[in-house]
Amino acid sequence: MTESPPRAWAEIDLAALQDNLRVAREQSGQEVMAVIKAGAYGHGLKRVSQVLDRENLPFLGVANAGEARQLFEAGIQTRPYILGATLPAEREEIATRGWTPCLCSFEEMAHFNQLGKISPIEAHLALDTGMGRGGFLPHQLGAALEKLATSPGIKLTGVGSHLPVADEDPEFTRSQFALFDSLVESIPRAPGPFHVHLSNSAGLLAFKSRTTTMVRPGLLLYGLSPITRYQEILKPVMSLKSRVSVVNDLPKGHGVSYGRSLLTRDTKAAVLGLGYGDGYPRALSGKGTQVLLNGALCPLLGRVTMDQIIVDVTELPDCQPGDEAELFGPHLLVSDLATKAGTIPWEVLTQITPRVTRVYRCRVI
Ligand SMILES: *Cc1c(COP(=O)(O)O)cnc(C)c1O
Repeated sequence: MTESPPRAWAEIDLAALQDNLRVAREQSGQEVMAVIKAGAYGHGLKRVSQVLDRENLPFLGVANAGEARQLFEAGIQTRPYILGATLPAEREEIATRGWTPCLCSFEEMAHFNQLGKISPIEAHLALDTGMGRGGFLPHQLGAALEKLATSPGIKLTGVGSHLPVADEDPEFTRSQFALFDSLVESIPRAPGPFHVHLSNSAGLLAFKSRTTTMVRPGLLLYGLSPITRYQEILKPVMSLKSRVSVVNDLPKGHGVSYGRSLLTRDTKAAVLGLGYGDGYPRALSGKGTQVLLNGALCPLLGRVTMDQIIVDVTELPDCQPGDEAELFGPHLLVSDLATKAGTIPWEVLTQITPRVTRVYRCRVI
């Protein structure tokens, strides 16, 4: 007996990931901290990190100690960097394993100084230049540096900040770059490597700094641009796919799905084996959403259900059970689906559920 294939799967093109990393390097001319939080934006933390681990990157950006531990358990050599304030209970593990935290408060600084008594902890300083999510405010920088000067348990190896509106407000973002650059220039440096970083995907595509040495792209590595005009230089990494289970000939006036959307013509309706239980947003219902089936764009009919959706294949007389559909991917951008669903591509990607089997494709060597 052969095992049945999944009804819904996500093809992950690891060669596209490598190409997008090259774009990040070329666009920025800087080192890259690849952001792989939230299961590498739904692409699978382990497999994505294994590919990135061969790229000689200074850091992999994670959200918390649990994600850093997954890297450790997968044997990944690239150092995890914790993007954001750490919880008190996470810090001993972070210190022991040599993961890099960013110091967001005097409380964190004092705790890490204590944990680094025997062997100093390498850490970055987080500055809040407008995000309001942690980090020292510009007027606190002097006091933070003074505290660090008397904290032998901490070795400062970098400084970073984050951009709240790099894809929405260029004027504010330019002023943020100027503020960050001037703050960084006021920091006395010990000899040795020092990482200065500010840009996410949108920042690295559209802005330049005179002080930064590293960028922190996430979305861009997965082939989606937060700024539309750069989309053409990227390759979407994930394609969400499913198959037709049944094709029904339904008469004009018949209802479709929950809520009974009424058909305005005789319709050939194909059922696909995926729904919001797979992370295909229910909010796409009634928004003119399309899926790619046998080379044609077919409109979604009625509401997205948990496990199935229904699409109009009237123009595809040969459509039959087993036919493969692309829900998003190179031909249907996640960004466009997200807009239709009233959300953002980051959320759509990270909501693809574990029921969707991830299938990895590598470049043939
Ligand atoms: C998630 C995150 C990033 C990556 O952002 P993208 O917009 O996906 O490129 C960079 N920096 C920090 C601090 C983050 O939390």
